[in-house]
Amino acid sequence: MTTNLLELADRLRTDADAYEYLEELRWAGRPYCPHCGSFAEHYFLKPANGTSRKTTRGSSSERRVWKCRDCRKQFSVLTGTIFHGSKIPVRKWLLVIFDMASCKNGMSAREIERKYGLASKSAWFMAHRIREAMKREPIAGLLSGRVIADETFYGGKPKNRHGHDGSKNMMGKHDKTPIVALVSRETGEVRSRAVPNVKPGNLRAVLTEHVDAANTHLHTDGARNYRLIAGDFASHQAVNHDAHEYVRGDVTTNHAETYFSQLKRSLDGTHHHVSREHLDRYLAEFDFRYTTCKQTDIERMNRIISRSGGRRLTYRQPAEA
Ligand SMILES: [Zn+2]
Repeated sequence: MTTNLLELADRLRTDADAYEYLEELRWAGRPYCPHCGSFAEHYFLKPANGTSRKTTRGSSSERRVWKCRDCRKQFSVLTGTIFHGSKIPVRKWLLVIFDMASCKNGMSAREIERKYGLASKSAWFMAHRIREAMKREPIAGLLSGRVIADETFYGGKPKNRHGHDGSKNMMGKHDKTPIVALVSRETGEVRSRAVPNVKPGNLRAVLTEHVDAANTHLHTDGARNYRLIAGDFASHQAVNHDAHEYVRGDVTTNHAETYFSQLKRSLDGTHHHVSREHLDRYLAEFDFRYTTCKQTDIERMNRIISRSGGRRLTYRQPAEA
């Protein structure tokens, strides 16, 4: 069992090793045809020279190719995944995933570019594809039990961005993007969303999407907007920050505050400000990181890989990124 970067690098000496690593994680010994869904005993197509094959561009590749016993089409472990169609060696992909999985504050596309000798466009695209894989499974269940709901305000004009950041009463709040975070006190899972504003309708929409209201005990600060929708839940308790009350019994929003401070440190420190358009992808990355904080770097990496299927992105790089 691989446990650290050195062992991982040892294990991934060639691109063929990287393919095998992915095959093991994604298929667990049963190759699966992504074209027809068959698990039949597919044929492994050995390269003519034993190690590599020519690509259409004339270079050599250690790609491990399989042929489906049922539909007769060829495939590899990359077909239909976030790696599909990328010209970057798989080995490099896996090392970047390890790096992104192990950096507490995330990694910018620029750092990936520098560290791995990639074109800036490739690094940007790679980082976003990896973020897509970090997104929780669409069928993941609703949160229940004790759930903290809290919000923060991110971004806005540079002159308003410093100082009492995070204060809900500060000037310039109107040009900031509100982010609502839900933290499960039962599992530690976090789900966050950027919203147009924190009026009760939007808060209710986020909560309805992620929370089993009838079985949820909602914990918030004293914000009036939560009191207006409190009737939806099994119970609602609030700490009164205005009266400097931060913990009462097991009621607190401290976990959300910790999440927000780490998020902001990374958005401004590592990524040097993120536009509203891409904010949700960064939030997905931070939800993943916070939710898996008790796992090892390798466990986090393997979890990303196990989610790498069926998530191909087609959007283009914006001018400002
Ligand atoms: Zn097939």
